[in-house]
Amino acid sequence: MKTLVIGTGGREHALALALSRDPSVTEVHAAPGNPGIAQVATLHDVDPLDGSAVADLADSLGVDLVVVGPEAPLVAGVADAVRGRGIAVFGPSGEAAQLEGSKAFAKQVMAAAEVPTALAHVCTTPDEVVAALDAFGAPYVVKDDGLAAGKGVVVTDDRQAAIDHAAGCERVVIEEYLDGPEVSLFALCSWSEADGAVVVPLQPAQDFKRAYDDDAGPNTGGMGAYTPLPWAPDDLVEEVRTRVLQPTVDTMAQRGTPFTGLLYAGLALTSRGLKVVEFNARFGDPETQALMALLESPVGLLLHAAATGDLAAVPAPVWRDGAAVTVVVAAEGYPVAPRKGDVIRGVDDADAVEGVDVIHAGTARDADGNLVTAGGRVLTVTAAGADLAEARRRAYAAVDLIHIDGGFSRRDIAAKAAAAS
Ligand code: AMP
Repeated sequence: MKTLVIGTGGREHALALALSRDPSVTEVHAAPGNPGIAQVATLHDVDPLDGSAVADLADSLGVDLVVVGPEAPLVAGVADAVRGRGIAVFGPSGEAAQLEGSKAFAKQVMAAAEVPTALAHVCTTPDEVVAALDAFGAPYVVKDDGLAAGKGVVVTDDRQAAIDHAAGCERVVIEEYLDGPEVSLFALCSWSEADGAVVVPLQPAQDFKRAYDDDAGPNTGGMGAYTPLPWAPDDLVEEVRTRVLQPTVDTMAQRGTPFTGLLYAGLALTSRGLKVVEFNARFGDPETQALMALLESPVGLLLHAAATGDLAAVPAPVWRDGAAVTVVVAAEGYPVAPRKGDVIRGVDDADAVEGVDVIHAGTARDADGNLVTAGGRVLTVTAAGADLAEARRRAYAAVDLIHIDGGFSRRDIAAKAAAAS
């Protein structure tokens, strides 16, 4: 099988690496990719947001499967353009990607599907914002309706800060605060006339959204992740499948916008039960890095089956024993104003630590061939181990070998879960 991965980040590096390790995959291509992806794939300088350029590339390479990583190309209809050429693509249509592209749309689908989620008001004027904030009370949750790379959400006790964030958005969703631990559950989704909508959940993971230790600082795209969750209830995956995932994909199919690809349910296990915090229409970053480190099944076959409506026919994913931990190394100034162009040292030594893959996110080569920072999240250091404690030790041993001026990581990724298990 020849494959093409669309995107430039850590998620795409992790997917390309996993594809390169699948014996059924003969070629891995990526567009536009990054210096880490270049180690496992052939790169092509194509704009990931340009659907016809991506479809032309897929056509000319003769690939059997295109995997679209990020949300922006999906919302822009890149999967539709590829599918329109008769090429299998893992990723939803532009319409189905609205589950992520518009929080207001996601709320409508959840209401129709009777999926448990936070109560919410969609507001377009400052008066509506103030009324909604006061109706729910603190802590205030204010979300930009559109795509914001994980940074459009503010959760705060400061009423003025909530009002100020809303003022910067065209349309905002104000919602009730959800307490309790968060879980990310990803599901492969396929649709066919014969089988209808099929969901295959992966293993639950947890990510760390805030920039600094102990969940301090601003929200980010994610500073680390781990899987599995030793503390999660045994029936969690089944409960999410029956109460969240299946009703959502059934509703999407009934609306005439079937969902093919990765449905990411961001969940809160609140004191009043399971609630959806958000949906995403693609693999989450950095949870994907941790999941790929433990997935034993050939990922190419799974993604191809999802892309071609064949998920019901393939064996369920098999997971390695043990645990995986991913720690993000971020550039100085992330998430507000990350500095670019700093030299990155120590990657090869870090990659040589047992059980570790150093996954590239925001990296580039400068004119002299040095590896330099090119984004806020620079590297996602991923380690597998016999348990969370070992995976953590390996991940941080590798992180400590990496040097970037002003770079930083959270030191508490998976710490509580490792101590408790
Ligand atoms: P979202 O982009 O909707 O996932 O929001 C980003 C992060 O903000 C989530 O992972 C949560 O940590 C937090 N968040 C979002 N909605 C809520 C909510 N209703 N209550 C509490 N925290 C929330």
